[in-house]
Amino acid sequence: MGSGKPVILSIPHHLSRLFLPTPKFSRHPASREDATNYTLHIRLSINKFAAQKIKKHTRKQSCPHFRPWYILKMFYQRDLVKKPARTCKAPLGKTIEHQESDPMKQADFQKVVDPEKKTVQCLLCAHQCKIKENSRGICQVRENRAGTLNSLVYGRLVSENVDPIEKKPLFHMLPGTLSYSIATVGCNFRCLHCQNYNISQYPRMHGGEVPGTSRSPEQVVTAARQHGCHSISYTYIEPTVFFEFAYETAVLAREVGIRNVFVSNGYTSPEATRKIAPYLDANNIDLKAFTDKFYHEVCGAKLAPVLETICLMRELCVWVEVTTLIIPGWNDSDRELRDIANFIKQVDPDMPWHVSRFHPAYKMTDRPATPVTTIYRARDIGLAAGLKYVYVGNMAAGMGEDTVCPTCGKAVIHRQGFQVISQNLKGAACGHCHGPIAGIF
Ligand code: SF4
Repeated sequence: MGSGKPVILSIPHHLSRLFLPTPKFSRHPASREDATNYTLHIRLSINKFAAQKIKKHTRKQSCPHFRPWYILKMFYQRDLVKKPARTCKAPLGKTIEHQESDPMKQADFQKVVDPEKKTVQCLLCAHQCKIKENSRGICQVRENRAGTLNSLVYGRLVSENVDPIEKKPLFHMLPGTLSYSIATVGCNFRCLHCQNYNISQYPRMHGGEVPGTSRSPEQVVTAARQHGCHSISYTYIEPTVFFEFAYETAVLAREVGIRNVFVSNGYTSPEATRKIAPYLDANNIDLKAFTDKFYHEVCGAKLAPVLETICLMRELCVWVEVTTLIIPGWNDSDRELRDIANFIKQVDPDMPWHVSRFHPAYKMTDRPATPVTTIYRARDIGLAAGLKYVYVGNMAAGMGEDTVCPTCGKAVIHRQGFQVISQNLKGAACGHCHGPIAGIF
């Protein structure tokens, strides 16, 4: 293991989340194109053998972006490079304080299933975990203490960022505005390709540790106002697992005219969905695939609850956009893409569908990034199925990010990456033909 010699590697921005802790940026990219070519530096402690190997592989690999990431991952896997210590850093470089003594919050949505053994059941998400005394649920952030279920992440934030709403991605909710984005650690999924595994799987990877900076709902709402944000996004990990904090913050935000957004895997239970929906304006829900096999093997979950949540959110008048990350060999067949598109159309043909490009991450490094042609094929399938708005994502700026009026076929919102370049909307109508454009404008 490492002997303290520092080495600086350049990593493409979109791969930066592979590392734990999140590396410190020398500066933040100003735009998505900027981010594409953007590199960051991380200092690592390496031993002599690792240094020689890095040198050798640096000569061999030709792609200047892929090269250091690949090498570093290989060294992490073989334990040749010492991973930085367990001091997780938030994406904006804020150091997270470990506050082990913070009080826990009694969890909503619980029932006692065995009073003698003090076993409780958590009803917050579709896993419906039965949790013994002194144990936690699958998400690792809800714990049974003496027969009462507690949230370990109430007000313990590990991420606070000001993001464009397009980054969620939400393209039909106040385009061009900023969203105050927060997260705790933990997740009820264990996706093999998770881009945020450094926070979603943090407790699992660190012996149950739950880090975070202490925040109150009032502080989050105040920060959102101070930064000129039109909304607060509960994001980066599954927001359901910090439901109590998200709910209280959302109620407060609504009172001062700030909107609320979930970026979710759709595994929230119907009870919890009904409770948050009156305060939720929009929800981007991942529909990761259309087979139980995928949900079981890749995420440790099931498909049906996700489909139910999409329908229920829509029924409860929450604006929903769906995202599918297309992974070669897993969910990229015409049939599966058509199934997803048909399902969305059946719920609401106005519901936008974002088809995103997969990049190898976390435990799914056995396949390449999705070919660009596959993403455009998915887009064509969505449009052919009758969806009115299909967008491409995780790609260099290009065709497929603009909002096109379904009535006249002209562009009404022109985007490049996460940036809105121009808009021609009159309220919720096309500026060219006055045809309706679905969403919150
Ligand atoms: S939120 Fe879901 S995963 Fe976590 S304890 Fe409750 S039922 Fe289990």
